[in-house]
Order: sequence, then structure tokens, then C-alpha cells
Amino acid sequence: MKRFDLMIGGEWRESAGGARGQIRSPFDGSVVGDVAVATVADVELAIAAAERGAARWRRTPGHERAAILNRAAALADARAEELAALISAENGKPLAEALGEARRSGAILRLAAHEGTQLYGDSLPLDANPGTGHDKIGFTLRQPVGIVVAITPFNYPALLVLHKVGPALAAGNAVILKPASATPLTALALAALCVEAGIPEGVLSVITGPGGALGDALVADPRVRKVSFTGSTAVGERIAARAGITKLSLELGASSPTLVLPGADIEQAAAAVAAGGYANGGQVCISVQRVIVHRDVEADFLAALRPRVEAIRMGDPLAEGTTLGPLISEREAERVAASIARAVAEGAHLLTGGERDGAFVSPAIVTGVDTRQAIAQDELFGPAVAVTRVADFDAALAAANGTPYGLAAGVFGGTLAEGIRAMREIDAGSIHLGWTPLWRADLMPYGGVKASGYGKEGVRSTVEEMTEVKTVVLHS
Ligand code: NAD
Repeated sequence: MKRFDLMIGGEWRESAGGARGQIRSPFDGSVVGDVAVATVADVELAIAAAERGAARWRRTPGHERAAILNRAAALADARAEELAALISAENGKPLAEALGEARRSGAILRLAAHEGTQLYGDSLPLDANPGTGHDKIGFTLRQPVGIVVAITPFNYPALLVLHKVGPALAAGNAVILKPASATPLTALALAALCVEAGIPEGVLSVITGPGGALGDALVADPRVRKVSFTGSTAVGERIAARAGITKLSLELGASSPTLVLPGADIEQAAAAVAAGGYANGGQVCISVQRVIVHRDVEADFLAALRPRVEAIRMGDPLAEGTTLGPLISEREAERVAASIARAVAEGAHLLTGGERDGAFVSPAIVTGVDTRQAIAQDELFGPAVAVTRVADFDAALAAANGTPYGLAAGVFGGTLAEGIRAMREIDAGSIHLGWTPLWRADLMPYGGVKASGYGKEGVRSTVEEMTEVKTVVLHS
């Protein structure tokens, strides 16, 4: 059982209201943590601390900031097993998956430390512009924005926190983190480790508590210069409405497609979909929610996919061999099971799975799905793949683009010309030729289009998003 207070400017404090909340395991409901529940008064304290911290941290040389972040990376490496246990306890994902996530923590911090020392500017050829530029010298500086608010979801309690906090700190900003209410423990443990590594007073705060009240106060404050949000499209819309002219990055929901076309290596495609549709219980923004399969290969593909999905082992996240844990809550499991049942009632076919038991939903394959159905249109965020049969490549492209979302897509098979068309014409932030959308390297630009949001993450991109370009002109 972990107990944490709020972290305000690097120091532990009880919440202004004195309230506390318990964090429960999604697997068995046992209490795994106890955290302070912040109020709007604590938001004010965090912003005041961040104002002091930002002023000091931006003057700290880049190599010193990098050294601190590299120390934090080393601590994260050394504590990977401890972090994995926390991730699994509060999120419910199998320990092996949690360990994979925990082990990326140090790597992300190291990448951030490096990128924070690469804040190059440009020299401006002002004499190329007819007028009076010929006797001037112009260049750009890249500077930290000041105070960054980072708001993160429950599904990757370490990864998505570090993808914001690491680059924000590396670039010289103060950060106020609001982690998901269900999974604050990993975020607090990571913040503790950053402070232990030397992040100075004022620079890092973690506010835990209800997203609505705290989020509204954080996002609307004019002293906050950047809001970086990862979460649902509905909350993203609310934040966009409140943030006014503050810089925003919105990493939102998705309904990501994978195309399986003639010529695909069917075994490889089935193995990748069985991994990419059910990892973390499908609670991944880039999960394979939809497979769009050409009718000529559908039967072979489903015959290869089904045994792989039926071999997924549901159970205690801490037990050896478990590959599917519970969803984050029983309510979420009810929602997912109801979406599957509705698709079937509308005429789709349930090939396997889809049964709920508490917070568990057995891994499902739903076939005969029309892209206009809710199970394709709305983000499912559960362990099910919706299969849509198409007659040709144009229909596959239309289906891929036929939802409000556009985060990532994958393509197996097809001709070279079709691959090139898919690359150009699928409306998404990333396309994987020869794999599913469920793949990410921490340094690559990562983000969506349409209702999946805007702005790019990935360590270098985030550093760019969390800095401002200032133009300097020397007049003679
Ligand atoms: P959520 O939107 O419910 O919550 C995300 C965060 O926002 C939490 O910290 C929550 O407390 C906070 N919040 C709630 N109301 C708020 C408000 N009014 N103002 C500010 N903050 C508020 O999302 P979730 O259920 O935790 O996570 C699942 C969602 O996250 C899915 O839609 C998933 O696709 C998305 N996601 C997207 C990406 C991406 O990179 N595009 C990555 C992971 C998850």
C-alpha cells in the first residue's frame, strides 16, 4: 500500500482541504494506495510555486538540466520492477506488460535529457527580403514556454506521464501534472524520483484528484502557457473550450484500422492483430479496433486470428502467464460488453468472446461489421476487434477513413501502388506498412488528426511544442 501527499513545487504537502482518497486494484478491489485529494486552493499553490520554479529553471544551463534528467533515468532503471508493480496494481495490466512500460521510463528521460540540449535556432537571411534588411542580423532563439500543465490518462501511467514531464523539464519549463484519478501512484513515484535526482524547488508539482474541478482551474489560468492533454475526445473538447488562447496539444481517442489485403502474410497479420487488438485489454489509443479485410483473404485471416485470440489468458495480472487483465473498472467492462452486444443486435456476428465477468471482458472478434455501426465509429477501448469485409482497395480506403478519428493505421499486403496510396490517402497521424497501428518508438512524432486531436508528441516534437521561437533582430 502506497501513501502519497500532493507534490507542490517538489515538496510533499497535504491537500488544503485535508481530504484523501483510496486507489483500488481493478482486479480484486483491494486498496493499493492512498492519496491526497487536491482542491482548487492547491492548484493555486502549485501555480505560484511553478512561477518561482520556471523563472529559476529556465536560467539553469541545459547541460545541468540534462544531468539531472539522466540521474532520474538511472533511478527509473534501477526501480523498474518497483514501478512495474505499482503500474500493475493500480491499472490492472499484466505484470509483464507493466514491466515493459516501466523499462521504457529511463529511456524516455534520457531521450528528453538529450533533446533539451538541442534547442537550436536559425540564422535569418534578412538581406534576401527587399527592403531594409540588408544591414541587419536576424536569428531565432528557442525558449521554454514557462508553466506547462500536463494532464494524463489511466492506460499508460508511466509512459504518458514521462512523454510530457520529461521533455517539459528538459526544455526548461515548470510542470504541473494532473494524472488520471484511477492511476496517480506511478505518477507520484516518478515525480519523487525526479526530485530525488535534483529537480529544484518550484519546478514540479503533482496534483491528484477529480479531473473536472482541478482540470478546469488549471486549464483556464492565464499563467499557464501550455496545456498538454492526453485523454478522451470529450474531455479534450472541454479543455479546448476553456483554454482560450493558451497553447494546446490534444492527444485524443481513436478507432484505428488495419487493412488486410491480398498478398498479405496471413499468419503474420493474424499474429500482429492478436497482439495489437488486445494488449492492455485494448485500452490503448492506437489499439487495433478495426480490421478491414479484403473478401478474398477474409476466411483465411479469421481462421488464423481466432485460435490466437482464444489463446489469450485472462486472469490475475500478477500471475505468471496472464496476458489479459481486467479493464480499469467494472463500469468500463459493462460499457464494452454492451457495445459488443449492440453490434451483434444490429446484425454483426460474434465469432468469439465478448462475455463480461466483473471488470473482465473476454477477448472478442466481431465480424460482418459495417463501418457506420457504433462499434466502428466510436472508440471502443476494450478487448475486441471489429472486422469489416470489403470488395476492393478503394472500399478499404473509404472504410479506413470513414470514422471521425485519425490517429494511426496499419496495412498488410496489397501492391506497392496500393501501399503508396494508403500512405498518402489514409487520414491519420501515422501509417504502418507491414504492421498494425500498435507500434511506437519514443522518439518518433506521434499524434492524430480529425477528432484524434492535434499537436505532436514524441520526445523531440514535444520539446518543440513546449518551447517558443523568438525572433531577434540586431539593428545597426
Ligand atoms: P479521460 O479523458 O477520462 O481523462 C484523462 C485525464 O483528464 C484524467 O487525468 C482526468 O482526470 C482528466 N480530466 C477529466 N475531466 C477534465 C477536465 N474537465 N479538464 C481537465 N482534465 C480533465 O481519459 P481516460 O479514460 O483516462 O483515458 C482514455 C482515453 O485516453 C481514451 O480516449 C484514449 O484514446 C485516450 N488516449 C489517447 C492517447 C493518444 O496519444 N492519442 C494515448 C492514450 C490514451
